[in-house]
Amino acid sequence: MEQKTKSIRITVLGGADEVGGNIILLEDEWYNVKILIDFGIKIKNYYDKYDRGELPSSIEEIVQYSLLPHEDRIPVHNLYLNKASLVESNHPNPSNLDGILISHPHKDHYFGLSFVNRTIPIYTGVVTKRIIRAFCKSERSTIANNFNNLNWHTFRTGDIIIIKGMKITPFHVDHSVPAAYGFIIYTSAGPVVYTGDFRRHGPLSHMTEQFLQEIKAYNTVLTNCELNGDQKKLITEGVKVLICEGTKISKGIVESEQSVEENLEKIFMNNPFDFILVKYDRIDWDRFRTFSHMAKKYGWKYIITEKDAYFYYLLNKKAIYETMRDPNILKDDHIYILKRGSANYKWQEKIRQIMYRHNKEHRFLGYRDLRSLEGKFLVYLTRLDDGLMRSLDFTKRGLFISSSIDPYSEEFFDNTNTIRKQLEPYGIPSYRVHASGHATPHDIINFIEEVKPKFLIPIHTEHPEFFRKIFQGSDIQVILPEKNQPIEF
Ligand SMILES: [Zn+2]
Repeated sequence: MEQKTKSIRITVLGGADEVGGNIILLEDEWYNVKILIDFGIKIKNYYDKYDRGELPSSIEEIVQYSLLPHEDRIPVHNLYLNKASLVESNHPNPSNLDGILISHPHKDHYFGLSFVNRTIPIYTGVVTKRIIRAFCKSERSTIANNFNNLNWHTFRTGDIIIIKGMKITPFHVDHSVPAAYGFIIYTSAGPVVYTGDFRRHGPLSHMTEQFLQEIKAYNTVLTNCELNGDQKKLITEGVKVLICEGTKISKGIVESEQSVEENLEKIFMNNPFDFILVKYDRIDWDRFRTFSHMAKKYGWKYIITEKDAYFYYLLNKKAIYETMRDPNILKDDHIYILKRGSANYKWQEKIRQIMYRHNKEHRFLGYRDLRSLEGKFLVYLTRLDDGLMRSLDFTKRGLFISSSIDPYSEEFFDNTNTIRKQLEPYGIPSYRVHASGHATPHDIINFIEEVKPKFLIPIHTEHPEFFRKIFQGSDIQVILPEKNQPIEF
């Protein structure tokens, strides 16, 4: 043990000079630990290779397209799923990777899990896992939607993850999706902090501030662990490395979810429209709540698909946070569900059974009902499908509101312009009402200065050089990561 050096190596395998697809390899020689922090795929690159409905033919193909790391170029073996490594198999093929930490349920941070070896421990939040699972269950199962039988290890804020003696404290942060975390990793070279994606202007911004307090005081480990002299000394020396997201470092808008609500209110208060088509990220619970509140307050019907209804129902059912019970698919009678044909998919069958069981079948609508529907209504959509186009009465006045969080960077391929163009011939105006899931430049800079790391690695940004400029002449040494190039500390 003594001859081992207390050094760590950080290799950015995805997310260097780009927004999305975060994958960071952290190796600690002292603890003999190798972990990955996030395992995302950059959604824009994925859709460049695969059109809607198209699927990868194999894991090898995904790797060949550089959507996920090539095993030959990293010191990790058996990273990917193959028939022999399935948990059900009698001949598991263990990996030398000690775990994957998943910060939050956006595909650019977790999508790659669909392809990983089922023996590798996956560390993520209780609700983070639930959202990933709900997503999986309300889609067709395919090679790219396979989040079954993963070796989940779930945590909550305040827990301590211990991997071969190395301690990690996960801590909640505010982002555009519930259950987003940052991590403090107590390596043999000192604390390494990973922010995940975060903001300081959202409804849960106090969570980001609590994370910052934890980074400054290390309360969780100090109150729960017996630390030896060396470990205590390392901690008092402060943060060694901060791996910080910088999606919005070059361009900010001063905004908030509150301002989204206020802006929407302006439309609803003086509303000349008969129906509104609304687009936002399905897992952006804050946005869903904001639109639903607005519909309820002004007596509009809020129409969603069976797939959406089942997804939200799954999350309502096991909600830990009170906020995730609102909106509520069973209780909110202004929410209507658009029924499509016979139940060809499992989620259709399930949501139909559930609604009938609770005597809520009157809240199902057929596409044909849209024409004769009384009163004003909102339709939630992610794209304009033919059924909807045929069923809407375009002699009525319509409006399109795009409220997706961060085009290209997260879940969705941004099709706002396509939808806008499709609606133009019908005289349907469009608005954009939006607040980012990512911190503004001043919030990022202040956050970093408060953390005061020795080294700063900007990630999840197209403008890492901004960090170098901003922190030149300060005590914080900025290292611009290059994809696949190990950085030693
Ligand atoms: Zn995100």
